[in-house]
Amino acid sequence: MRYAIDGSVKLKSDRVFDVVIIGAGIAGLYTALNTDPHCRCCILAKENIDISNSWLAQGGIAAAISADDDPRLHFEDTIVAGAGLCDEEAVDVLVREGPGDVKRLVEMKVPFDLNQYGDLQITREGGHHKNRIVHAGGDATGRETVKALAYLASQKKNITFMPNTLFIDIVTKDNSVTGLICKTEDGYELISAKNIVIATGGIGQVYKKSTNPSIATGDGLAAALRSGAQIRDIEFIQFHPTGLWSPTSEDRSFLISEAVRGEGGLLKNKDGVRFMLGTHELNELAPRDIVARAIERELAASGEDHVFVDITAKDREFLEHRFPTIFNECLKRGIDISKEWIPVCPVQHYLIGGIRTDLHARTAVNGLYACGEAASTGVHGANRLASNSMLECLVFGRRAAEQINASVHIGVYEEAELPKIPERKHVRLDYKSMRRELQQLMNDYCRVIRNEAGLTYALGLVTAIRDKLENVFEDNKEYFEMLNLAALAVEIAEAALARKESVGAHYREN
Ligand SMILES: Cc1cc2nc3c(=O)[nH]c(=O)nc-3n(C[C@H](O)[C@H](O)[C@H](O)COP(=O)(O)OP(=O)(O)OC[C@H]3O[C@@H](n4cnc5c(N)ncnc54)[C@H](O)[C@@H]3O)c2cc1C
Repeated sequence: MRYAIDGSVKLKSDRVFDVVIIGAGIAGLYTALNTDPHCRCCILAKENIDISNSWLAQGGIAAAISADDDPRLHFEDTIVAGAGLCDEEAVDVLVREGPGDVKRLVEMKVPFDLNQYGDLQITREGGHHKNRIVHAGGDATGRETVKALAYLASQKKNITFMPNTLFIDIVTKDNSVTGLICKTEDGYELISAKNIVIATGGIGQVYKKSTNPSIATGDGLAAALRSGAQIRDIEFIQFHPTGLWSPTSEDRSFLISEAVRGEGGLLKNKDGVRFMLGTHELNELAPRDIVARAIERELAASGEDHVFVDITAKDREFLEHRFPTIFNECLKRGIDISKEWIPVCPVQHYLIGGIRTDLHARTAVNGLYACGEAASTGVHGANRLASNSMLECLVFGRRAAEQINASVHIGVYEEAELPKIPERKHVRLDYKSMRRELQQLMNDYCRVIRNEAGLTYALGLVTAIRDKLENVFEDNKEYFEMLNLAALAVEIAEAALARKESVGAHYREN
């Protein structure tokens, strides 16, 4: 399928930009702020700036900025986490240029937490051998960073912001970008632009339980795929071991950050047994994939659907100050974490692979760039090191902007033309139950521990859903999202089947 819209759709086309950035998370905003002031830049967001993975990020941003650290040490930790599959050149760029971008954030007035001497407070997370994580608002790093960047972007004359706009497709001619199709509150639009940056974040909604918000339907990846870009390493999906378990189904799972275990939180089953003991030398602080698998095995053996994090050894005052977001969210649900264990289970969290890019965020389509969680720069290999993702948004977002600034197309006006698109049968479908069915299949057969039979079964069913949707059309957001979710579920199941060995976040039982 080349275009998700149908031939009957009427498009308005009176906007032209040098670059359109799809996404107002950290990747999209930082890219926009690095564009040349002469570059007419537009940022699209599905809803507003407070709905994204960036907004939810808790722990912080990793960079070798302390006196006793060195980018080479950050390089080594990243390579070890990536289980031998990292692109070393990309990792080198990330760790060497990252400290400069974090310093830029300080200049941009991101309110990072400071120590008693007024210097940046730098902490450590799983897999890092040095303290190198900067954070803001205690456990609200993403929200504080997005707020600061969005404010700056709103002050720039060359940047237009279009919230509540659904990006649908990339328009190309001879493998070069000429524009894009989107839907605003006023209807469909064809926007002319020679450069497009996909910064649409993750794909969490492919799964039943995810820390990603309901907008994370992988629209950017699916549109890039339709336009001829390549998807790489999409079988590597990071499951966070400790999503907050809920007795009812939720649009997104609340995250109990690894930092809670970093501060002494213990993983226990319902009988109080610490099942991580003897599983790994770091016990509860073993790498995420190992903890997630240990929990899955514990759940399979016990028949339960959750285990617990016990942080009751810390007093209330400490917890309220160190983890204000987590403390208050749990309290809202009736759990006082200073007195009670927190119920948790593994949930989808992060897309390690994505749209294949080079060191300048370029894809296989001329004028099409990708950065942030939607991109596969190669820095994460088979597993992401904690807090490297926001750093990747910054480094490769800036690199995309630098490449676009140097583009010969800046300031050249050319209206995009849409090729003739065939009409499909118009239908009305129940997308809610279709989405639930797909999420359940991916949850059951394509999660932490996978096997050939389960993957083959799921692939057959998600392919049938995708094929059904590709043959019809309905003029609503739910149709486009479901089409994209199904296309990505097929990609994930196919890639997971194709990779026979267990490596990093991809674990095959057989
Ligand atoms: C709960 C949680 C905690 C995390 N903690 C950390 C952490 O401590 N450190 C770390 O490094 N990483 C962390 N991560 C991961 C990190 O936050 C993300 O990988 C990163 O912020 C992604 O940023 P992004 O800009 O690529 O995408 P996002 O921030 O997800 O932004 C995506 C944007 O794309 C827009 N968009 C999507 N589809 C469309 C469409 N069809 N049309 C128009 N717009 C669209 C959305 O509206 C949104 O503005 C965490 C993630 C989660 C979910």
